[in-house]
Amino acid sequence: MNDYLLLTPGPLTTSATVKSAMLKDWCTWDDDYNHDIVESIRKQLVSLATKSEQYTCVLMQGSGTASVESALGSLVTTNDKLLIINNGAYGQRMTEIADYLNIDYHSLNYPETEQPVLQQISDILDTDPSITHVAMVHCETTTGMLNPVQHVGELVKSHNKVFILDAMSSFGGIEFDLAQLHVDVMISSSNKCIQGVPGFGFVVCKQALIVAAKGVARSLSLDLYAQWHCMQTQGGKWRFTSPTHVVRAFYQALLELKEEGGIAARAIRYQENQQLLVKGMRELGFNTLLDDELHSPIITSFYSPEDPGYQFKKFYHALKQQGFVIYPGKVSEADCFRIGNIGHVFEKDIQGLLTAIATCCYWLK
Ligand SMILES: *Cc1c(COP(=O)(O)O)cnc(C)c1O
Repeated sequence: MNDYLLLTPGPLTTSATVKSAMLKDWCTWDDDYNHDIVESIRKQLVSLATKSEQYTCVLMQGSGTASVESALGSLVTTNDKLLIINNGAYGQRMTEIADYLNIDYHSLNYPETEQPVLQQISDILDTDPSITHVAMVHCETTTGMLNPVQHVGELVKSHNKVFILDAMSSFGGIEFDLAQLHVDVMISSSNKCIQGVPGFGFVVCKQALIVAAKGVARSLSLDLYAQWHCMQTQGGKWRFTSPTHVVRAFYQALLELKEEGGIAARAIRYQENQQLLVKGMRELGFNTLLDDELHSPIITSFYSPEDPGYQFKKFYHALKQQGFVIYPGKVSEADCFRIGNIGHVFEKDIQGLLTAIATCCYWLK
C-alpha cells in the first residue's frame, strides 16, 4: 500500500489493517460507530498506563499539542504555579502554552543534549513554595533523550506537587506504571507508539484532579473537565464532532498492540530496531548526538556527515527514492538528522534502510 516507510516520530508507519479500518464513513451517534468503542479505548489506555484504579482517561480532538494545552489549561488554575523542566523543543512548547494561557511558571532550562539536574529541581521546590505543579517531557523527541522520570517523580511526590508528564512519544513504546513513577497526569496521542493515525490526543489522569477541574479551563473546545464529564456520563460521547475514522483506526491499533504481546513486546522490538540502527550507522561512519545511556529507543539523532558534498535535502530524497523517509534535525546547536524506529517497522526494514544509506552515501567512500 505504501511506496515508502515513515521512519519519523509520528505520523508514523501504520499497518495495512489500521489503515483499512478507516475505509468507511462512520456516523458519530449511530450504534455501528458505537460508543462502546470509545469506552473500550479509554479503559484500555488506563490499563496500559497503570495498574492503579485512581486514574481515568479523556480523549481530545487535535494533535498532541492540543491535549498538552488542554491539560495545562484545565488543571493549572490562575492561583497555581507551574515548574517546567525544559531540555528540548517540547519542553519549550509547554512554556509557550503557559505564556498563551497566562499561567504563572518557572522554566528550568537545560541544553538539549543534557539531562535535568535533580538537585536543582529539588532546590527550586524547596525554595519556591508557590509551585503547585511540575511538568516534564519523558522522551524529548527533539534529540531522542530519555529524561529521568522516576527520580523527578520521587522529588515531585516528596514535595507534594502535581506531576504532569508529556509522554507523547514514549507511551506504548516503553513500559511504565504512572502510579510507580508518581505521575498524576500523562499526555500522549493517537499517532505515536500505539501506532494509530493522527487526529486526537489523550490524557490519563488521576480522576480526583479532573473532578476538581470543573470551570478552570480557559478554552471551550479544550476544556478537559467538560470533555471528561461528557464521556464519563454519556457512554463515551465526545462533546463535538469526533474524529471517527481515526478512533476506529486507533481501536484496531490497540488490538494489534495486544496481539504483538503488549507494551513489553513492542518495547523490545523498538529497542532492537534502535540498537540495530545505531550499530549499522556507526559501521557506516555516522556518530550519534547522544551517548547511549541517555538514549530512548524511540528516535535517534545523528550528526550530519562533515563532507562538504553532504546536503540533507539530497540525502533525504535519495533515501525516499529507495523507500525510506527520515526526519530533519531539530537541535539548535548541532547539525543533525533524525531516524525514528517506532511504528510498524521491523528488523528487515532497518536492515533495508542501512543498505540504502550505504548505497547513497557517496561521500563516505
Ligand atoms: C509529537 C510530540 C508532541 C505533540 O506534537 P504534535 O505535533 O502536536 O502532535 C508533544 N510532545 C512530544 C514529546 C512529542 O514527541
